[in-house]
Amino acid sequence: MSQMSGQRLTRLDEQTVAQIAAGEVISRPARVVSELVENALDAGADRIDIAVDGDGTERIRVADDGHGLSREAAQLAVERHTTSKLTDVDDARDGLAAVSTLGFRGEALAAIADCAALELVTNTGDPVGCRLRVDDEVTVSDAGRAQGTTVTVTDLFGDRPVRRESLSGSVTEFRRISECVSRYVLARPDVRFSLAHDGRTTFRAPGTGFREALLAVYDGETASQSTTVDHAERIALDTHAGDLQIRGILAYPSVTRATRDHVRIAIDGRPVEDRGLRAAIAAGYGSLLAGDRYPVAALDISPPAGWVDPNVHPEKKRVELRGRQPIEKRVEATVCEVLSTADARRAETAATDLDSPLSAVDRRDPFADLRVIGSFRDLYLLCEGGDDLLVIDQHAAHERVNYERLRAAVDDAPTSTVSLDPPQSVSVSPVGSAAADTHRDLLTELGFAFESFGGDTLRVSAVPAPCGRVVDPSALGDILDQLVAGDSPADPRESVLKDLACRPSLKAGDRLSIDEAETLLERLGECEQPFACPHGRPTVCSIDEVTLAAGFDRTATRFD
Ligand code: ADP
Ligand code: MG
Repeated sequence: MSQMSGQRLTRLDEQTVAQIAAGEVISRPARVVSELVENALDAGADRIDIAVDGDGTERIRVADDGHGLSREAAQLAVERHTTSKLTDVDDARDGLAAVSTLGFRGEALAAIADCAALELVTNTGDPVGCRLRVDDEVTVSDAGRAQGTTVTVTDLFGDRPVRRESLSGSVTEFRRISECVSRYVLARPDVRFSLAHDGRTTFRAPGTGFREALLAVYDGETASQSTTVDHAERIALDTHAGDLQIRGILAYPSVTRATRDHVRIAIDGRPVEDRGLRAAIAAGYGSLLAGDRYPVAALDISPPAGWVDPNVHPEKKRVELRGRQPIEKRVEATVCEVLSTADARRAETAATDLDSPLSAVDRRDPFADLRVIGSFRDLYLLCEGGDDLLVIDQHAAHERVNYERLRAAVDDAPTSTVSLDPPQSVSVSPVGSAAADTHRDLLTELGFAFESFGGDTLRVSAVPAPCGRVVDPSALGDILDQLVAGDSPADPRESVLKDLACRPSLKAGDRLSIDEAETLLERLGECEQPFACPHGRPTVCSIDEVTLAAGFDRTATRFD
């Protein structure tokens, strides 16, 4: 809905009211904050400053630089079922799915005024704005203020001692408020937010994107170890097709938490709780996550127009999704893809560009601080890194290193080759034989020399020997099969390089000495994309001390 209509308030008729899911209930201070922040966002604010005193019942103040309200509109706004966001019953019936504002019921201000003293100072950009006090009665006066609105709520639940009693105390209630604000910060990283408690600013988000939002909500370590997502595609459900957008930020699997609460979902910029989408994100991390650990992630998902119904939950915490299945599937696939191709090093460099202090970003090699402490089944390297036990899949790590080195070598100069004397016969499938012809130039460039020897036999007279290791001639047969099976892969060269990188002959022996293991880690650290093998399988899995300690019914010595 346009901002123009933001000024015109209408009272919803009874029929519309009846169609709107149960009314707003102000259960605790965080609910007040949530409603006021939503109103500020709906008013198009670029900046929202929130201040809370005590447990929130003393005072909550939310100031924004949105479009503000005229004097008449302000007076209407605090009445029940008055809103500028829905106009009539058609909106409620057909259009709720199309509502683009966070609010639509016209009840929040009235409900808050019902259980607290409310003051609203607002200006639409005129020389003088107005101040509205709603206590036992409503008083209106002139007020100076720049364009925007400040709502101050005091003495919340003053006449509801039971509700007040049921609150958990200042620390816990403020934590709830802080968590609530965090959800908006991560859902709307384009908006500047600040939050203060008892006069002390507890965080600021600059409104410049997901990474800075993550930095505000978490810390430099988390923000530096993350990768952003910006994905759009068309999806279809039956005959309805439309655009799905997935944007946000994913912390690397090395940063984990013990609960799901750090996976945050927004739909069209509205923070929601959605088990299915949370599970889809976790599934996208797949085996990158150790056992019962959860990722830190925030995604804002915009399904095609008309696929979302926001009017299904009294606190608007959930929405109904049409086409849930295809959306969840795409979310999982996107997360998986972004993580397996994330270039950790580049992300770390980018993060150093932020003005805010980032503790862990000046080290370029993500494995520089690791200490190899052993191995398991001659397959996994065990390393100590800060509070984490990192388990590195030796083979996957090797494949990644080989792949990047091969790629670099081939880019620089022809790969070194080794002649086979006498040439060796390799039997290939009929399609493989045809592929050998089609891709002869590529295979020659990579160091193979061969000729057709009648039927489906190739005589191989030279093989590549990248990084000092000789490729087995039989690799040619497999590579040709790959090229064929890949159904004309977009980049046959990449596909061959990947295949070569994973040849057993290129891998180091199974048992690595500590020295060799450290060299492997060093090489892996030099890779552009160290966290996945060329085929996208993870190379590193991290188990933090808290998880281990929990397994032994102990408290960890250091918490994150
Ligand atoms: P709703 O958000 O569902 O419309 P509310 O009771 O929260 O209901 O608000 C009523 C109306 O008051 C809104 O429709 C909007 O026009 C106006 N309003 C509330 N807060 C603000 C604000 N911060 N800036 C501008 N207008 C506001
Ligand atoms: Mg509202």
